Amino acid sequence: MKKTVIIIGSGFSSLAASCYLAKYGYDVTIFEKNNTIGGRARQLIKNGFTFDIGPTWYWMPDVFERFFADFGKSPSDYYTLEKLNPAYSVYFGKNDYITIEDTLEKITIAFEKEETGSSKKLKTFIEKAKSNYDIAIKDLVYNPGVSPLELVTPATIKKLNQFFSTIKKDVRKEFKNERLVKILEFPVLFLGAKPSDTPSFYSFMNYADFGLGTFHPKKGMYQVILALENLAKELDVTIKTNASVEKINVKDSKSIGLISNGKTYNEDIVVSGADYHHTETLLDKNYRQYSEAYWKKKTFAPSSLLFYVGFDKKLINVNHHTLFFDVDFDIHAEAIYDHPSWPENPLFYASFPSKTDENVAPEGKEAGIFLIPLAPGLEDTPEIRNIYFEKIIARLETLTSQNIKNHIIFKESFCIKDFIKDYNSYKGNAYGMANTLMQTAFLRPKLKSKKVKNLYFTGQLTVPGPGVPPSLISGKLVADLVLKHTKK
Ligand SMILES: Cc1cc2nc3c(=O)[nH]c(=O)nc-3n(C[C@H](O)[C@H](O)[C@H](O)COP(=O)(O)OP(=O)(O)OC[C@H]3O[C@@H](n4cnc5c(N)ncnc54)[C@H](O)[C@@H]3O)c2cc1C
Repeated sequence: MKKTVIIIGSGFSSLAASCYLAKYGYDVTIFEKNNTIGGRARQLIKNGFTFDIGPTWYWMPDVFERFFADFGKSPSDYYTLEKLNPAYSVYFGKNDYITIEDTLEKITIAFEKEETGSSKKLKTFIEKAKSNYDIAIKDLVYNPGVSPLELVTPATIKKLNQFFSTIKKDVRKEFKNERLVKILEFPVLFLGAKPSDTPSFYSFMNYADFGLGTFHPKKGMYQVILALENLAKELDVTIKTNASVEKINVKDSKSIGLISNGKTYNEDIVVSGADYHHTETLLDKNYRQYSEAYWKKKTFAPSSLLFYVGFDKKLINVNHHTLFFDVDFDIHAEAIYDHPSWPENPLFYASFPSKTDENVAPEGKEAGIFLIPLAPGLEDTPEIRNIYFEKIIARLETLTSQNIKNHIIFKESFCIKDFIKDYNSYKGNAYGMANTLMQTAFLRPKLKSKKVKNLYFTGQLTVPGPGVPPSLISGKLVADLVLKHTKK
């Protein structure tokens, strides 16, 4: 008889884990609390507009290819991927922006215009970033974070100094122009920490950005969730929605059943892709590995205030991905990491997927997604959300020289309270736990419980960290660990 696995959650990591475990011969059932799958990557459809609620940047296409190749498939079997050109633009003031195009060659030209001599420096910087990418993505991040020795390879020993310097220092050593500095510091924000707290080695994100480029799955990122769902179903995974897990029963250090909607389900193995802290609260206290004090001390990646807006016209002077860095990032970063509070003048990110994808908005209209990064755990009220909506729409109007306010058909918002309600997220974090030096690899919460023999974890709070590609990898890592421990 096949061993049974129950997976809690249906985010990227859970779906990936389900595919691997089914392929390895387990009988897999997913329990998802919401009425749709996808977790943080769910979709909102309204009045003919389609929005990705969470991730919008498709980076590191090689990780997606590697995932599907493990099942003899390719992303193109499920969705159509396009490389965006431009990849994105970054605003620094009124009608003042830098556009990042789709090849390193074109990007170096843009850099040279800003700072003489910077094109050569950029090429060297990206070569180093590529070498880090090759080591990190092809090798390191596929380790289960069990032992510090996983990080010790002939290649990493040569790069040891890069674990003790920071992205901020490295970028500023080479580039003096503040605008270029901001652009080069932007990719590590995906890892959830300040550039001043992120080891230099993570410059591999710059290679992902400038070397590999930014892609868009036609109809949006949710197509990737649907691809995983299709693959999981092809592999006979059962997916239950509206199935919140309320308790993990444990006897003699072994899970003996999960309770969902008042019913008990028995299983041989539990894998949780729900937020780590929440999953531990489903256990009696003596079976939890990490105390409340432990979680409190950790550097969490930001939460976010998000808006999904339907506009009744096409907007000008914006691209598919547009960053608004016209205010001081250091001050905003302090409000996220040092003194948690609502930022006075926030940086924000806007995505207008209908700029390149006719499927996501009715003809002649624009779909807009806006994101302000925030400290987790802040007060979240409709009034505060509105104040920030007014702020960013006013800035957008001024910076891009157009009337926007009178062209809004509707807006929906999503913030800290929703992250807690919809995903059981600790303090409403959006992207899990940051990848700082002390929260990297074996220093992150473990894939396998130390207290409950047959309980495993996956997702952005464990290894390798936040983001869609790491979540796919996390699903593989946990499935491999389950296989190693339980298959004869
Ligand atoms: C706003 C936003 C923007 C982002 N942008 C990007 C981006 O552009 N590019 C990128 O690569 N990454 C991005 N990310 C990060 C990326 O989306 C996440 O890292 C990834 O989706 C996390 O997947 P996961 O499987 O770890 O967790 P989740 O997606 O959170 O999945 C956990 C699942 O568990 C379920 N669950 C919780 N409790 C229970 C319970 N008791 N019972 C049953 N089910 C339960 C939840 O409902 C959820 O479906 C973004 C994230 C957010 C929030």
